[in-house]
Amino acid sequence: MHSQAAFLLGKGTILEVNTFECYYRYMKCPNCSSDDDKVIDSRSNSAGTAVRRRRVCNACGYRFTSYETIERRHIVVHKKDGSYEDFNIDKVRRGIDSAAQKRNISPEQIDNLLNTLQVEIDNRVGADRIIESSAIGDEVLKLLYNIDRVAYVRFASVYKAFADVSQFVSEIQSLETTISGTK
Ligand SMILES: [Zn+2]
Repeated sequence: MHSQAAFLLGKGTILEVNTFECYYRYMKCPNCSSDDDKVIDSRSNSAGTAVRRRRVCNACGYRFTSYETIERRHIVVHKKDGSYEDFNIDKVRRGIDSAAQKRNISPEQIDNLLNTLQVEIDNRVGADRIIESSAIGDEVLKLLYNIDRVAYVRFASVYKAFADVSQFVSEIQSLETTISGTK
């Protein structure tokens, strides 16, 4: 049995872990207390609300498991057609998974991308808890761009549903300008 501990990670995000001590996102090795570990396997439950990670301590080689769940306040997405729906990070994950097919992208990279996205969305929504769907899509593109250009282009082509190739190319160019401008 594991007792639960919760740590506040900033606005709207709570990380729960098992008895192994956790300081923010870093796990302490239960064997030697080093916080230098490597994730060797990472699985989410079907709802995408919990992550189980197998870790190996870089100091002593001990293997252990962390269980992390992210609780979030309800967020509503304002879609392009004017309708609203509950924000569902699983849907985003499916889009990224299909864009990432046969690319050299690890599950950890996608987990990290989704964690960053969640924090970004939490920071961006106001008191009304509403976010534009385009803001989510643009953020995913920005994060994917830094991981894999092919996955980025695939996601962009589906997400933006371009009228023609020249529009697609000019969109990519303007995004590249935006991204290099924000760095
Ligand atoms: Zn250790």
